[in-house]
Amino acid sequence: MIVVMKVGSPADEIERISQEFVNWGLSPEKIVGKHKVVIGLVGETASLDPLQIQEISPWIETVLRVEQPFKRASLEYRHGEYSEVIINTPNGPVSVGKNHPVAVVAGPCSVENEAMIVETAKRVKAAGAKFLRGGAYKPRTSPYAFQGHGESALELLAAAREASGLGIITEVMDAADLDKIGEVADVIQVGARNMQNFSLLKKVGAQDKPVLLKRGMSATIDEWLMAAEYVLAAGNPNVILCERGIRTFDGKYTRNTLDLSVLPVLRSLTHLPIMIDPSHGTGKSDYVPSMAAAAIAAGTDSLMIEVHPNPAKALSDGPQSLTPDKFDRVMQDLSIIGKTVNRWPQAEVALA
Ligand code: PEP
Ligand code: MN
Repeated sequence: MIVVMKVGSPADEIERISQEFVNWGLSPEKIVGKHKVVIGLVGETASLDPLQIQEISPWIETVLRVEQPFKRASLEYRHGEYSEVIINTPNGPVSVGKNHPVAVVAGPCSVENEAMIVETAKRVKAAGAKFLRGGAYKPRTSPYAFQGHGESALELLAAAREASGLGIITEVMDAADLDKIGEVADVIQVGARNMQNFSLLKKVGAQDKPVLLKRGMSATIDEWLMAAEYVLAAGNPNVILCERGIRTFDGKYTRNTLDLSVLPVLRSLTHLPIMIDPSHGTGKSDYVPSMAAAAIAAGTDSLMIEVHPNPAKALSDGPQSLTPDKFDRVMQDLSIIGKTVNRWPQAEVALA
């Protein structure tokens, strides 16, 4: 249920109303929008009568029920206002959301060694990426496949962060690693295979770093949003949803089926920012540029693209990785469509 306050409602009145809800055993959440404040109520609200709540204060504009099973993640919960996730990077804050330029995340599937991660970071930064991705802990189908270099790879990510100024995105698989990862990462990734690892979701929800929540490979949109709800309910409001392709009947030509229809669908259901990952979504580097362009045209807030200095030798996901040269060209092409839809960052003018 949400309580929409009138424009200009006094802060002490909002406080008084919130206290009243606390007295009723509810947990009110103050959501400050551009024009209005909304008080979100999650919990035992079924027996509450909206008309009775309306009586509490003349400053209450309206009281509405959130019909969706996901509450905090729903667009209704913020009364139709889209949220942004602001990520602090060494180069300054980057906002990801519907009203901001498309933020591009690029980098290798796995962090392999210092030279490759630092070189890739510098190259993707020069091409316009805002974040470096790279796995230290890798979820692999085979226990005999490269599992990531673990803790030592975190140090290499820290070096790449320092060298490039890019924000770092890396995956957590085990909650026991969360503190260590949080020292380096600016965004914590929860991978497709862990989308419904509810204890992990609670733990990433209880820490401060923004969370990138990838869609499970067979997850419905409702399941994905309920997974986001776990993070939000645990106290972390900064969640970005990442579509990375789903399993369908045809896996012959593509690794997954990239579901770009999530863009309009999620926009109608949730306020959370959206990222599209055409690398895992197709599994083939040749298909990445067109799917990235389509994602921008369809309104994505962010893109994740795998880039490796030598894809043929990559320890994971080589076939879907672009070389830095190719990524540079793709970014130039993407800038045309990005500018057309008014979602491309201003070129940084080099100071003379
Ligand atoms: C990755 O980002 O490298 C990865 C393993 O992604 P996903 O969880 O989408 O498979
Ligand atoms: Mn990968």
